[in-house]
Amino acid sequence: MAVIITDLCINCAACIDECPVEAIVDEDENPTGGETYYVYADKCVECVGYHDTPACAEACPTEGCIQWGEVVDGMPSSDNRKAAGTPVVD
Ligand code: SF4
Ligand code: SF4
Repeated sequence: MAVIITDLCINCAACIDECPVEAIVDEDENPTGGETYYVYADKCVECVGYHDTPACAEACPTEGCIQWGEVVDGMPSSDNRKAAGTPVVD
């Protein structure tokens, strides 16, 4: 599973260095061509084994920019996760 960065992202860079597995890239490296930061679902471990709550979302200054995403087979998932589309931090 993974978290996703939505269009609410203001490209502030607060999240990128908090990720323990380097799953986040900035707008220049967003593979979708989007103008926001981006989380690689095949790298994100939802901070399992590192933090109780995803560190990127804890660091993000927006309201609800970082949301829970869809299930990714074979990837760790947080016991605290909510439904896809739900903000990680309200
Ligand atoms: S939830 Fe954790 S592992 Fe996933 S992108 Fe955010 S900081 Fe990285
Ligand atoms: S901390 Fe939030 S607003 Fe800042 S770059 Fe990361 S996702 Fe975007």
